Amino acid sequence: MDIPRIFNITESAHRIHNPITPEKLATLGAALRLESGCRVLDLGSGSGEMLCTWARDHGVIGTGIDMSPLFTEQAKLRAVELGVADRVKFIHDDATGYVSDEKVGVAACVGATWIAGGFAGTIELLARSLRTGGIILVGEPYWRRLPPTEEVAKGCLAHAISDFLMLPELLASFGRLGYDIVEMVLADQDGWDRYEAAKWLTMRRWLEANPDDEFVEEVRSQLRSEPVRHAAYTREYLGWGVFALMPQ
Ligand code: SAH
Repeated sequence: MDIPRIFNITESAHRIHNPITPEKLATLGAALRLESGCRVLDLGSGSGEMLCTWARDHGVIGTGIDMSPLFTEQAKLRAVELGVADRVKFIHDDATGYVSDEKVGVAACVGATWIAGGFAGTIELLARSLRTGGIILVGEPYWRRLPPTEEVAKGCLAHAISDFLMLPELLASFGRLGYDIVEMVLADQDGWDRYEAAKWLTMRRWLEANPDDEFVEEVRSQLRSEPVRHAAYTREYLGWGVFALMPQ
């Protein structure tokens, strides 16, 4: 079981597979006022940076589930590196429908809400693992500027303008689902650069190391087109944030 190989290539050197930076991840951990021993569930945990750093900085106990064997392996190595391997567990699996046996204080899905068909379904899924008084975290894109045309939305790698909302509408929709928004940390354009631009050097190095791979053409074409696409579209139009929710 794996995600499409292109992500395992382009994001192999990423610790965070989203436009949030290490600093903002730390800001979020502090903002949530995490207590030592708090259980955190993370669906689509990637390379585990959130759980590992929060285990180190706040003493949380974490479980992460991710479909990429590569990212899951990197998460386990990171846990050892940060000395938290006894506090965090990373499972290589499909997180679709995953509900934890033990209720958690924080149930998160940061940038992988397709796992339950979008943020509404994901919030519903996470709520099933949440203890009373717990916090749900969803990481989700929104339009920073509304694309003037569907072409611009496609340039942001969305299918359509209707894929995402503007920030006030996104917040309002959390309210309509029956949640209070109790915190949020938003990415900025520098964060998008860290996420997107970090892929370019990884791609360049991968091409040099794998000249005969069947993915060479695809990676080469992405390396040529991605910087301009990112600057023209994602960087200008797409926002992204992590939203902390509590049931009303
Ligand atoms: N939350 C992490 C990773 C976000 S990228 C971070 O912020 O760094 C999205 C992640 O979802 C990838 O790691 C990918 O492997 C994972 N993923 C995609 N589909 C999945 C599924 N069905 N079940 C579990 N993980 C999935």
